[in-house]
Amino acid sequence: MSTVTRERRRIEKAGTLQWFHWVVISLSLCLTLVAWNISHSQIEEKVERQFNREADQVIELVKERMELYENALWSGVAMIQAQGGEVSHPEWRRYSRELRIDHKYPGVNGIGVIFSRPTIEIPDLIEEQRQTRPDFRVFPEHDEPVSLPIIYVEPEDVNSKAVGLDMAHETNRYRAALRARDLGTAQITGPIVLVQDETRTPGFLFYTPYYRGGDPETLEERRERFLGMVYAPFVVEELMKGALASQNRHVGLRIQDGDDVLFNEHEVVKEDFDPEPLFRRTDRVSLYGREWSFDIRSDQSFRSEQNNAQPLTILIGGLFIEALLILLFVTISRTNRRALAYADEASKEAIAKAVELEQLNAELERSNEELEHFAYVASHDLQEPLRMVGSFAELLDAQYADSFDDQGRKWLGFMTDGARRMQALVRDLLTFSRAGRSIEMTPVDSRELIDLALENLAHSLEDEVRIEVKPDLPRILADAGQISSVFQNLISNAIKFRREGAPAVVEVGFEEGRSSEKCIFYVRDEGIGIDEEFLGRIFVIFQRLHGKFEYSGTGLGLAICKKIVEKHGGRIWVWSAPGQGSTFYFSIPRVTEETLHAIPTP
Ligand code: ADP
Repeated sequence: MSTVTRERRRIEKAGTLQWFHWVVISLSLCLTLVAWNISHSQIEEKVERQFNREADQVIELVKERMELYENALWSGVAMIQAQGGEVSHPEWRRYSRELRIDHKYPGVNGIGVIFSRPTIEIPDLIEEQRQTRPDFRVFPEHDEPVSLPIIYVEPEDVNSKAVGLDMAHETNRYRAALRARDLGTAQITGPIVLVQDETRTPGFLFYTPYYRGGDPETLEERRERFLGMVYAPFVVEELMKGALASQNRHVGLRIQDGDDVLFNEHEVVKEDFDPEPLFRRTDRVSLYGREWSFDIRSDQSFRSEQNNAQPLTILIGGLFIEALLILLFVTISRTNRRALAYADEASKEAIAKAVELEQLNAELERSNEELEHFAYVASHDLQEPLRMVGSFAELLDAQYADSFDDQGRKWLGFMTDGARRMQALVRDLLTFSRAGRSIEMTPVDSRELIDLALENLAHSLEDEVRIEVKPDLPRILADAGQISSVFQNLISNAIKFRREGAPAVVEVGFEEGRSSEKCIFYVRDEGIGIDEEFLGRIFVIFQRLHGKFEYSGTGLGLAICKKIVEKHGGRIWVWSAPGQGSTFYFSIPRVTEETLHAIPTP
């Protein structure tokens, strides 16, 4: 695959979602689902607990209410037994009024007394009762040996149809009565329709037995001393209204005794009925000799009450964050792709420019080399004919000067002077083209290089010249001959450009460079100085600031210095002001452990 194709693929890949993006998104999604699941099951548990609490409460309320009625009946029994087992109609009426049934016992239809008599004694009983109540009768007839007619029931007006009704005429009523007699405990009948209930809804009777001479211990005693029962008739609908009225319920209830339904709220017509309840449960509860089954179901109000939005909020919130994450990743990836494409474009351009620059550099280097070679060849080849012109001009001057007139001698003088200057120029040009051509770097003591330069200059060191070389000069890495010639050039300029009439004062020294790898040498004089506007020109080849008659020179000295210093990896510069002297600085590599190792061994 080519680099370009590979690069294009890399950029395209950067623009799509990466595996780690998917990992983050998947983790976040898992977290959302786990949080939603936990919240969901917690809420479900809580709701179920609440349903069970409400269901327990309903059953408890019914049981409590039954106990309350039982207590009322037992208090009737206590009243009768306190009177030796007998109670008159007015006494019972007074007692029942005291009870304030309608107020204290909502749901009770009435409270009455049932006498237990052998059936053969019933006519006597009727006789007895008719003395105060002429229309009293016992009904209906039956074959049982013992009769259990209702004698009193209060309030009598609503229960009048029940007065005289014999419990022995019907199995359900009769059996419960005998159970109450034999056990000595409160008992209820199975479902019946009360004779006094016009709506003919299910009801039952609640019996509490009383005996002659207090509570008997054994079954025989109970049967023998059984006098009758205090009883209460109940319409279940009314009873439940009383029991459950005050409760703010969110469950519906159905009570069954065997297959008979006593009470039923699970009907479509009921206000809060829920055809598909969230919860349901059936409890069997033993109550006074019967087993009632409580079928409890949550209703509509329970459903709306439990409508908890928390799990859904978590789920929607989590999914929303997911969507944002994906959007973010997609945006990042696209930006990434764009950035990579830009970078790719830019780097291609940069590479093209670098290649172009490299080519230009190579061309420049080649033409420089050609130029240098030309200068070298030209100056080298010019030397010989020039020497000849100079030599013969001097010979002419020495041997035939007298043959010329004044004009001729003057022209001959110009010729020899021109040839001399031309020679100096060609010599300096040759030096310039050679400078830095092949440099041989060795560690060398800079003091030695300065001394060599001073030796070469010895002929021009007159009394009027004072040169001070600072002590403790460093060792440097340099081509000794070439750097020595730099010192020589700078010192000779310092001497040459002294102020008229003043001695040449020159100081040679060095300063620590800003980087520890270089040291900076300086050559300072108190000479004529240089105007600021010419400072940039003096290092350029052939640039001179003075006429040839003022100060001799070729204008190549500083250009040669610059070339040598730069070939050593250094820099040359000047500080100067007219009349205040000049200081020429140049930097050169210092000898360090590293530079020592870098020098190739000869
Ligand atoms: P040359 O000395 O042969 O003229 P250089 O290249 O050495 O050529 O110097 C160029 C010019 O810089 C000189 O002509 C002179 O004007 C100026 N210059 C160089 N050194 C000094 C100095 N120490 N003081 C004043 N002027 C200087």
